Amino acid sequence: MTALRLESWHSTPVLREVPVPTPGPGGVLVQVGGAGACHSDLHLMDEFSDGLLPWGPPFTLGHENAGWVHALGDGVTGLEVGQPVAVVGAWGCGSCDRCRLGLETYCDHPERTAAPGGGGGLGLDGGMADYLLVPSARHVVPLPGGLHPADAAPLTDAGLTPYHAVRRSLPKLLPGSVAVVIGVGGLGHLAVQVLKAISGAVVVAVDSREASRDLAKRCGADVVVAPGDDAVAEVRAAGHGLGAEVVLDMVGSDDTLALAAGVSRQLSDITVVGIGGGSLPFGFFTVPYEASVQTTYWGNRTELVEVLDLAARGLLRAETTRFPLAEAAGVYDRLRRGEVAGRAVVVP
Ligand code: NAD
Ligand code: ZN
Repeated sequence: MTALRLESWHSTPVLREVPVPTPGPGGVLVQVGGAGACHSDLHLMDEFSDGLLPWGPPFTLGHENAGWVHALGDGVTGLEVGQPVAVVGAWGCGSCDRCRLGLETYCDHPERTAAPGGGGGLGLDGGMADYLLVPSARHVVPLPGGLHPADAAPLTDAGLTPYHAVRRSLPKLLPGSVAVVIGVGGLGHLAVQVLKAISGAVVVAVDSREASRDLAKRCGADVVVAPGDDAVAEVRAAGHGLGAEVVLDMVGSDDTLALAAGVSRQLSDITVVGIGGGSLPFGFFTVPYEASVQTTYWGNRTELVEVLDLAARGLLRAETTRFPLAEAAGVYDRLRRGEVAGRAVVVP
């Protein structure tokens, strides 16, 4: 089969012919129906190097995956060949207390896994290939309501990550509250929809690209703002005019973090999702009183089931552009140049 391989850090991924894997006991072989191209893969290609992570290349890219069950390993029950499924991306040890709670993103014993802290497309072979080997059937979720795998794939990260972040801040997102999404790309356009679907907040979206601001509007944002000198005032003027209860920064650069601090209200949550490498000066007077500054990482299986339920009921829809596997490397160039609206999905 063909696979898009990252062969070393600081390299361009390449298409290679590799053997079709066979699922071991408890595993599932998924015929890939869609693999989303996440900006995190650009960070992987451009910024990571040996020693930074406990895993590294070579591996097949693609950590946002959905498809059809193609083959089942010994002992797997409850799934059928041909069934459409989404893949939960973070693969923990499965047996520690955290994993038993479903928090495989925060596994206590990542050293017991083949790619500690990673998963398919992150140290292990991912879904930018004809087939994806999922080591355990617990990482597979049946697709509800006729969702097509190419539409569902982005929901497993670009949808799940903001969902996890919004869910965590839900007590602060009461009707009339203000939520700000900075960066309306793959994750951000779904963050806007998640906020509209499960919270009562007035949603303000900020993006430097006009196309992304238009996308934010289509996704239901109440107010859209371009970054710049007036951005803090424009965002603060939205809704009740007192600043935001929750800010989700999908970029994470110095300027967006400064904007996040500038627009947030006392008692707010500032959640850093983007790994743009910036930092937020933190001190008693640099963020509003009792603001909580937090990072967030991906989401868990239960939350993915909830995300897929929202999608099956038409409350959440990834805006996607599909590309064949042969063009997968070029998709990342488009993403790097800021030419993708919503999510680019590779369809083998
Ligand atoms: P994307 O490229 O699809 O979207 C980024 C958006 O941010 C674009 O619309 C771009 O125009 C906008 N933007 C960039 N710089 C900006 C600025 N200074 N001000 C305003 N807008 C700006 O990226 P994505 O795939 O949505 O990923 C977003 C970030 O989230 C990346 O850093 C990615 O690595 C990270 N990420 C984190 C997690 C996690 O679990 N924490 C999961 C997935 C992705
Ligand atoms: Zn574990």
